[in-house]
Amino acid sequence: MSYHFDTLKVRAAYDPALHNQAVSPPIYQTTAYEFRDTKNADGLFALTEPGFLYTRVNNPTVDILERRVAELDGGSAALALASGMAAISYTLLTLAEGGGRILASPYLYGGSSDAFQRIFPNFGIHFDQSKALIDNPSELEKEIKPDTKAIFVESIGNPTGAIADLEALAALAHRHGIPLVVDNTFATPYLLNPIQYGADIVIYSATKALNGHGNLIAGLIVETGKFPWDNGNFPQLQKEEYVLRDRSTGKKRSFLEAVPQAPFVSRIRLTYLNYFGAALGPFDAYLTLIGIETLSERVQKQLENAKKVVAYLEKNKHVAWIQYSGLESSRYYQRGKKYFSKGIPGIFSFGFKGTIEESEAFLNAIQLWSYHVNVGDARSLIVNSPKTTHSELTQEEQEYAAIESNLIRLSLGLEDPEDLIADLEQAFAKVFGAS
Ligand SMILES: *Cc1c(COP(=O)(O)O)cnc(C)c1O
Repeated sequence: MSYHFDTLKVRAAYDPALHNQAVSPPIYQTTAYEFRDTKNADGLFALTEPGFLYTRVNNPTVDILERRVAELDGGSAALALASGMAAISYTLLTLAEGGGRILASPYLYGGSSDAFQRIFPNFGIHFDQSKALIDNPSELEKEIKPDTKAIFVESIGNPTGAIADLEALAALAHRHGIPLVVDNTFATPYLLNPIQYGADIVIYSATKALNGHGNLIAGLIVETGKFPWDNGNFPQLQKEEYVLRDRSTGKKRSFLEAVPQAPFVSRIRLTYLNYFGAALGPFDAYLTLIGIETLSERVQKQLENAKKVVAYLEKNKHVAWIQYSGLESSRYYQRGKKYFSKGIPGIFSFGFKGTIEESEAFLNAIQLWSYHVNVGDARSLIVNSPKTTHSELTQEEQEYAAIESNLIRLSLGLEDPEDLIADLEQAFAKVFGAS
């Protein structure tokens, strides 16, 4: 029996042997798991028997979250981690292990841009960040070099709202035998399933709308189980591994052989997660599962609220521009209609018309919106991105990423839209006088 999204997100048990009595997911607050006998221990370590080893590697509560998100996204398997940054880092370290290049969008989360430019090169992993990735995928062929290992984009970029043409990028990546990796944090699996359009790996910061309550940090990696990892570009997934040896015969296997439906996330689980250790705790996995139960309702309300605030700002003379892909004037409007048929995520930015002092006075006059750097929260958030979320970027990098100095980002929450608009109105009035 296959279910619709709204049914899947609140479904009760997955594994009757583990939790058939519990309606709400049980929290397995345990470090390790008793082995039945030595044969069971051998089988668990070699991945020939299902079960749990140690909470740094897997945990039954975290497992429920992994299965649920894989299912919501149409993937074959998922891996949950302690943060979205860990999900991005472990993914790219795996793909470009030993050195290589990643072709990436310039319109990215500030932490991603920063890590790509300043940390990954120390490991021999270099990034080609090209605007053509978003604006003109047909020009990209020449940007793919012999050691390019993946294409990395956000389905809808941060904070500019740039929408990627996933179908075109997937076709390009596949012509070159490399995967398309999509950070789908802003969209969530409710608004967009990148796998439907050809993505091979989908990443989430579950810290944001997926959990949606501003109370934890978590990340996820979803894979399709369909990418041809044996095409010669990724020997790391074909390598026979000591960790996967059969304890009695000593015969070793590769991840591709041992877990053909989940070779990519399994390799990360037993290498990067196991040894570098950004494991998600069971309680945070539980909270994320509870958050997911209301995912569609929250995201839908947020996007409706965004439409109303956009309509208000469009008429405001202190607003220089609005970057919201739901506006017909947006260069991403057509792509938005194609990829976001349920609506554009409720996160957008506008240009404040005034001096830096006036824009700071405006932010300081805000009372209801919360001034901080999260997005997708139950509460509405306002932030001056160039000075906060993207402040580590140099001025040049900010300009390249289309982050103007007067940019203010809004992330809509679940409040009454009239109250949100009234708060903006009183803050403008405090700076410029009543209009
Ligand atoms: C927040 C965010 C991240 C990083 O996630 P954390 O959970 O904060 O580590 C990555 N990508 C996007 C698009 C984000 O918004």
